[in-house]
Amino acid sequence: MIKPTYSWVDQQINDLKKRGLYRHLRTIESGPASTVEIEGKEMLIASSNNYLGLAADQRLIMEASKVVQQFGVGSTGSRLTTGNSTWHEKLEKRIAAFKKEEAAIVFSSGYLANVGVISALAQDGDVILSDELNHASLIDGCRLSKANTMVYRHVDMNDLKKKLQLARNAQNKFIVTDSVFSMDGNLAPLPEIKELADQYNAFIIVDDAHATGVLGENGRGSTEHFHVEVDITIGTFSKAIGTEGGFAAGSFPIIELLRNKARSFIFQTALPPGSVAAAIKSIDIIEQEKSLIHSLRANIEKLQKQLAEIGFVTMPTPTPIIPVLIGEAQKTVAFSKQLEREGIFAPAIRPPTVPEGKSRIRLTVMASHTDKHIQQVSQAFYTTGKNMGVI
Ligand code: PMP
Repeated sequence: MIKPTYSWVDQQINDLKKRGLYRHLRTIESGPASTVEIEGKEMLIASSNNYLGLAADQRLIMEASKVVQQFGVGSTGSRLTTGNSTWHEKLEKRIAAFKKEEAAIVFSSGYLANVGVISALAQDGDVILSDELNHASLIDGCRLSKANTMVYRHVDMNDLKKKLQLARNAQNKFIVTDSVFSMDGNLAPLPEIKELADQYNAFIIVDDAHATGVLGENGRGSTEHFHVEVDITIGTFSKAIGTEGGFAAGSFPIIELLRNKARSFIFQTALPPGSVAAAIKSIDIIEQEKSLIHSLRANIEKLQKQLAEIGFVTMPTPTPIIPVLIGEAQKTVAFSKQLEREGIFAPAIRPPTVPEGKSRIRLTVMASHTDKHIQQVSQAFYTTGKNMGVI
């Protein structure tokens, strides 16, 4: 059957194309290593969230395969019906222990964890104070909740204080922030946020997606890095841990409430047990093999140093996210295409993921990158930057 055409759809697609905001899917034809096959060409990945290189670690693959043999490939239902296996419960205990929290709850993705936690906890009469550069899933969680959301300027503690003062009579107040901002790689000032939260009797919800397995002496995340405590830490297994799924960790009663109220927990099919088992193995490896985090940190420093030497201005950060600001969306797409010709895969990040005029290449470093890989990235940036008049 031939479907009708819709002029309003065509118009919107054309508009996206005109503004350089049209999105193409790229096809990856091999497993997640430092180099991958993309549409017939081998390229060095410099934009993956697989920070520790664990997504294709043989030990995780063996563990997942073993559990798939025993438990199958689908969980068959919500955690609250037929989907809750021994593996899900083991992962909740494992992530709570890793995060040094009383309890944890596992969701099917980090996105669903953020949306579920915020909409379940923040009620009518409450106020959410949300950093303006928070991840889309935190923003969507705020939109789904019945609370009033006040957006404070990015990591601006004076603005946060002002807004807490305005919200002082609200029933409950929740400060919601990424710990590592996903497109900038900078950190939220958690010690200052904690001070304000204590002063104004507010709860802190932190999204530790890019900090888990990365920050802190043992990779436990931002609370270990800053030595502070927060009320709820949310995270994902899809970045440094290398698998799939999301979690929230906190006190027993908070987790109990989430199990009863978070709609993205109740109405979502549970993760497949094989993937859950692989996440447990991954956390074990992160705790036992400090060399992984050390290699990641050494590589972050090397790439930052080399980019600075060739004239790129990047912010020093302890995270593997190194944004290279280009500005205009179309120019950023052209920059990314040129990088591809140099054998580097690092897609353009454009609005609405980042603000208008702040398009960028979001470079990321992996523990498994070799010195030669890092050199290859900076060489490609040098050539492309010179060609395009960026440096
Ligand atoms: N929070 C942040 C800060 C993220 O960067 C992401 C992933 N892009 C998520 C949450 C969502 O996690 P997931 O991909 O597991 O849904």
